[in-house]
Amino acid sequence: MKSELQIVERFLPVNKYTRPQRSIEKVEYIVVHWTGNPKGVNEGLFTWFAVTSVELERYGSTHFGVDNSGVMQFIPVNEMAYHVGSRSYTPWKEEHFGNRYPNAHTIGIELNHLDWSGNFSKQVLSYGAQLAAKLCQQFDLDPETGIIRHFDVTRKDCPRLFVTDEQAFQQFKNDVKQHMRHSERHCNGR
Ligand SMILES: [Zn+2]
Repeated sequence: MKSELQIVERFLPVNKYTRPQRSIEKVEYIVVHWTGNPKGVNEGLFTWFAVTSVELERYGSTHFGVDNSGVMQFIPVNEMAYHVGSRSYTPWKEEHFGNRYPNAHTIGIELNHLDWSGNFSKQVLSYGAQLAAKLCQQFDLDPETGIIRHFDVTRKDCPRLFVTDEQAFQQFKNDVKQHMRHSERHCNGR
């Protein structure tokens, strides 16, 4: 398994459906998603958001995609993506965001998956955890409370594995913590 995280920047063309260039006010949460497209890859996600969604006039996007080859970034982290907006929200959302628009306070990560059960490859989980660790450090978030599921905000079945198997979600957050400890040790040594 490859370990070093590489982020390929492939920014979407500016358009009102997937990259509206609205500002993020403050990043308070990292939101984890599945793509809902078994065996998909980042390249396909890029085409979906850059071309297909725009043609279909469908709102929706994400900041990062993760597949077995690594991480692709579609939108800069100071710009909003449309990934957790909804007509109706959960009580959890009301408690943590109040009336505020969740897309203006979150970064979206889409994890590509293997099947309709939402299982992820070990490589995708590893890259996803490394990416989340980097973002938690960048925005000073505690992974335990700062990493949430799309499900928590809207009750959408997303990411399916982390909704059906809470332990798998906890393990993901534990992996993020471990990556953060690891990189802190490295920084302190310099
Ligand atoms: Zn989602």
